Amino acid sequence: MRPNVLDPLFAPVSVVDGIGPRIAKLLCNLLPVPESMQEPRVLGLVFHLPHSIIDRRKQPGIAFAPEGAIVTLKVRIDRHQPSPRGRSNVPYRVFAHDETGEIGFVFFHSKPAWLEKTLPVGEIMLVSGRVEWFNGRPTMVHPDHIVSEANAADLPLVEPVYPLTAGVSPKVLRKAILSALERVPDLPEWIDPHVVAKHGFSGFRESLARLHGPRDEADVDLQNPARRRLAYDELLAGQLALGLVRRKLKKTAGRVFQGSGDLAARIREAFGHRLTEAQERSLGEIRIDQEKPERMLRLLQGDVGSGKTIVALLAMANVIESGAQAAMMAPTEILARQHFASISPLARAAGLRIEILTGREKGKARDETLAALKAGDIDILVGTHALFQESVQFRDLGLAVVDEQHRFGVHQRLLLSSKGQHSDMLVMTATPIPRTLVLTAYGDMDVSKLDTKPPGRQPVKTVTVPLVRLDEVVDRVRNAIANGQKVYWICPLVEENEELKVASAEERFDTLKKVISAPLGLVHGRMKGDEKDAVMQAFKQGDIRLLVATTVIEVGVDVPDATIMVIEHAERFGLAQLHQLRGRVGRGSDHSTCLLLYKEPLGEVAHARLAIMRETEDGFRIAEEDLKLRGEGEILGTRQSGAANYRLASLADHADLLEIARDDARLVIETDADLHSERGKALRTLLYLFERDEAIRLLRAG
Ligand code: ADP
Ligand code: MG
Repeated sequence: MRPNVLDPLFAPVSVVDGIGPRIAKLLCNLLPVPESMQEPRVLGLVFHLPHSIIDRRKQPGIAFAPEGAIVTLKVRIDRHQPSPRGRSNVPYRVFAHDETGEIGFVFFHSKPAWLEKTLPVGEIMLVSGRVEWFNGRPTMVHPDHIVSEANAADLPLVEPVYPLTAGVSPKVLRKAILSALERVPDLPEWIDPHVVAKHGFSGFRESLARLHGPRDEADVDLQNPARRRLAYDELLAGQLALGLVRRKLKKTAGRVFQGSGDLAARIREAFGHRLTEAQERSLGEIRIDQEKPERMLRLLQGDVGSGKTIVALLAMANVIESGAQAAMMAPTEILARQHFASISPLARAAGLRIEILTGREKGKARDETLAALKAGDIDILVGTHALFQESVQFRDLGLAVVDEQHRFGVHQRLLLSSKGQHSDMLVMTATPIPRTLVLTAYGDMDVSKLDTKPPGRQPVKTVTVPLVRLDEVVDRVRNAIANGQKVYWICPLVEENEELKVASAEERFDTLKKVISAPLGLVHGRMKGDEKDAVMQAFKQGDIRLLVATTVIEVGVDVPDATIMVIEHAERFGLAQLHQLRGRVGRGSDHSTCLLLYKEPLGEVAHARLAIMRETEDGFRIAEEDLKLRGEGEILGTRQSGAANYRLASLADHADLLEIARDDARLVIETDADLHSERGKALRTLLYLFERDEAIRLLRAG
């Protein structure tokens, strides 16, 4: 149970003064909303940190206020000039002066009565805002703050600036955060005293207060000790949770799988290619794990197209030879079907029984599959997260392979592995994850790397083209198709809105159909599963030459003879995503091209991204650059699943803290694994605070 001291922070935001149902709803766009709730928590407000400050300390006097600068002026109000009757688009002006000059305050659509009250003629007032000069005259449009001399203390001289959302004004947000802060309880220190001393950390509550009440730029810097303290808290919670999960998994004894290798030999023969040196090496590492009486927890990391699937299949063969079953889980329906299609022939050639189970298998067929699985008449079950369901029971699950698993959370991973008493786990990831990220997302899982690609791959030529030259691109695509090539055309990423995505893909499909006479196909997320399959199949077979798609094809789809990838509005995509998409071509022996269409003008980050794409195909380098350019959540694609969703820590900036947190977590687990000591108890609170309490459930399970 969550300790009661944390209750005020876990309450819904609407308990805070000044937040009613309307604002609470708007805040859903700004703060994380827990699955079990309709609105964010108070904690969300408390962790919503300012990214910069507005400095109102400059009081230069009217005549010396620089153009565009935020200043505070002490002025005497001279006169009001209301908007002319019936012409409310002409602003209301208030004129004032100080000893250096005169200024006009400008208001649009403001209530005259309010202005008369706020800026009384003859009074001295403090007014703060941005000064603009027109024709040698200074003005201030809608000042940020207006207070009387007597209330000077109410004017915030240094004001934190928060990320905002439409409909919630900075003032409302600020006020809500301040009252939320009052609800932060005094919590026992969970950080090791040496770490506290070495890094000059203050307490949890103090650090929060400092961050929300900055006194200068340094107070909002990511390297400020208060910010580092909170980042450390978050990282420590993550590392501790992962450490506990891992310990639990390791503690359950594994089993020894020692196949004769016959099945594997038959699969290799059916595969027909020699495995690369990296594939053999990884397989060797997996085999050693399988033969040990401990449980395998291994990450198979390899760029798109590096050939992870065959490695996984051979690993499964070894388990099956020892009499157990294997499961392979993919994050999407398309991917699950793709895996099923590509490994079925190989598995069947070796006499293995393989089935698929997704949300789409229903009724009698589903019941039959489930029964066969339970009876042990299925060797390999491929599927989506449908495999998590309780009705899915294996006779004896020996190995769970999880593909692209960064889309799943730690908790889900545990669920799958709980289906087999001691089953091994092999996690495949296509995103080449930098070391720091492996640490945060997986703890210190063992890693095998496919760092070379199968032979015969052609480098993909990457070209960037401004959208205004769309016609040329269409010509080029038309010629390529006439020469027998296959083309992917990826439509712009439109917000996180499926409707709009579909609309834009349909629109592009229609326009392309008019100018390209070859058969075209369209695939998007709103289509039914079997419709998608049919289109993908037609593309694979060549009945469709150009495939217009939303990002549903992002991962895993394998059409080896597709040679052109067009990505529209490439500037809206992240690096990792562009890399994944580009990885769909260059899979065969023909030369491939990736055309990145972008809309001008390009922002700085987008420009950098496209330049990196032109420069390199090295997934590792791209992942590192991506980490620099964007947040880590996006690299791992975990924004939704919450597996590595850091709110306070930035892996690019706090990587040093991550190492320390990992070492500390490890020490805690070695010395006080049940978290019984004083510090252990404080650490439990920390785990709850960062919602890592799945790890606490494990403690209790023993
Ligand atoms: P990924 O790592 O992206 O999952 P896949 O396993 O889908 O990669 O492999 C990509 C393609 O490379 C597939 O068509 C696969 O059959 C092929 N492939 C894998 N290993 C080899 C190899 N050693 N030699 C030749 N082709 C291979
Ligand atoms: Mg794959």
